[in-house]
Amino acid sequence: MRTFTLLLWFVLGSSAFAHTNVAELRQLHFPNVPGYLTLKCDLHMHTVFSDGNVWPSIRVEEALKDNLDAISITDHLEKLKHGADIPMPNRNRSHEEAVKAARGTELIIIQGTEITRSMPPGHANAIFITDANKVLVDDPVDSYRVANKQGGFIFWNHPTWIGQDDDGVAELTPMHEQLIAEGLLHGIEIVNEDTYSDEALQIALDNDLTIIGTSDIHGLIDWQYNVAGGGHRPLTLVFAKERSADGINEGLVARRTVALINDSLIGVEETVVPLVNASITSKGAAYQRDSSVADVRLKNHSSVAYTLQNKSDYNFYTHTDVITLPAMSEIKLSVKTIERLESFELRFLALNVVTAPNEHPEISISITVDSK
Ligand SMILES: [Zn+2]
Ligand SMILES: [Zn+2]
Repeated sequence: MRTFTLLLWFVLGSSAFAHTNVAELRQLHFPNVPGYLTLKCDLHMHTVFSDGNVWPSIRVEEALKDNLDAISITDHLEKLKHGADIPMPNRNRSHEEAVKAARGTELIIIQGTEITRSMPPGHANAIFITDANKVLVDDPVDSYRVANKQGGFIFWNHPTWIGQDDDGVAELTPMHEQLIAEGLLHGIEIVNEDTYSDEALQIALDNDLTIIGTSDIHGLIDWQYNVAGGGHRPLTLVFAKERSADGINEGLVARRTVALINDSLIGVEETVVPLVNASITSKGAAYQRDSSVADVRLKNHSSVAYTLQNKSDYNFYTHTDVITLPAMSEIKLSVKTIERLESFELRFLALNVVTAPNEHPEISISITVDSK
C-alpha cells in the first residue's frame, strides 16, 4: 500500500510538474531596457474571416499563453477563402471578435487588415486603422492613402515571398519607392513566418523603415512553431514609453523595434544592444581555491539562447571561445584572468544578434569578484 501511495504520488506529482513546466516554458520573456518597456507584439495573423483556420478567439488565447502584450488580426481584405460560409461583408468583424475575446485580459488588440495585391506592391498590413471596409478600394496606392488617413501604420509583408518573387530576394520597385517618398509605407517584414531576409533588412536600413517580424499564422501557433518541443513564434519587440496601443504605435513610428525569429534578434545597434545588455547579467564571480581561475555566473533573462564568441583579454577554463547561454537560465563560465582581480570585463560578439546583413554587435559584461 505504501509503495502504491508513493508510486501514485510520484506519477501525479511528476505530471503536475510537467504541466506547469510546459505552460510556463512557452511564456515569452524579454526584459525592459533603460527608458522603455519591451512589448511583445505579433502584428500579422489570420482567422477564418479570410484564409486562416481558426476563430479570432483562438488567436487571443494563443497570445495569452505566449505572454504577448499585443496582437493584430490582419485578415485579407481581398482573399476570403471561406467566403461562401463566412462572407464578411463587414471587414471589421474579425477584429471585433478578437476585442470581445480579449475583454477582461491585459492583451492589447490593434485593429488591422492585410491589403492583398499582386506585385507591385504585393501584400501590406495596415494597423491602427479604424475602418477596414474603407481601405478596400480598387487602386492599391489609394488603399494605402485611405489607411494612412485613418492613422494607419503600414508595413510591407513578406517582400521575399517566393509566391510573388521567384528568387526570394526582396527588391524595391518604383511603386514602393513612391509609397516611401509619399510617407505612405512605414515598415517592412524582415521576418515572416519561417523566413528571414538580409535584403529586406538592408531595405529597412536604407529607407528608414521599421523592422518587423511576424508569425503570419494561418493554422495553430502550437503546431506550426512546435511549441511543445520548445519552439516559439516570430515577434516584433517594440520599445514603448507606455503599455498601450498608443505606446506601441509611437514605438513603431520611432523605429524602436527588434525582430525575433527562433533564437535570432534583428535590429539596429541602438535598439538591440540595450536589449542584449538587459538580458545578460553577471551574478558575481569567485576565484577557485588559490588560483587565478574565476568562476563567473552569467544569467540570461530572455527567451532566446545567446551564442557568444569570446573577444575578451582572457581565455576560458571550461569553454571554447564560443559559448551558448540558454534561454531563461544561468551558466557557470570559468575565466583564466592570469592574476587575481577585483573586477574585469568580458567582451563577446553576439553571433545570434544581427544589426545589419552579416554584422553582429560586440557586447561587454562587467564582472565583480565577490569579496570574502
Ligand atoms: Zn500576405
Ligand atoms: Zn498574411
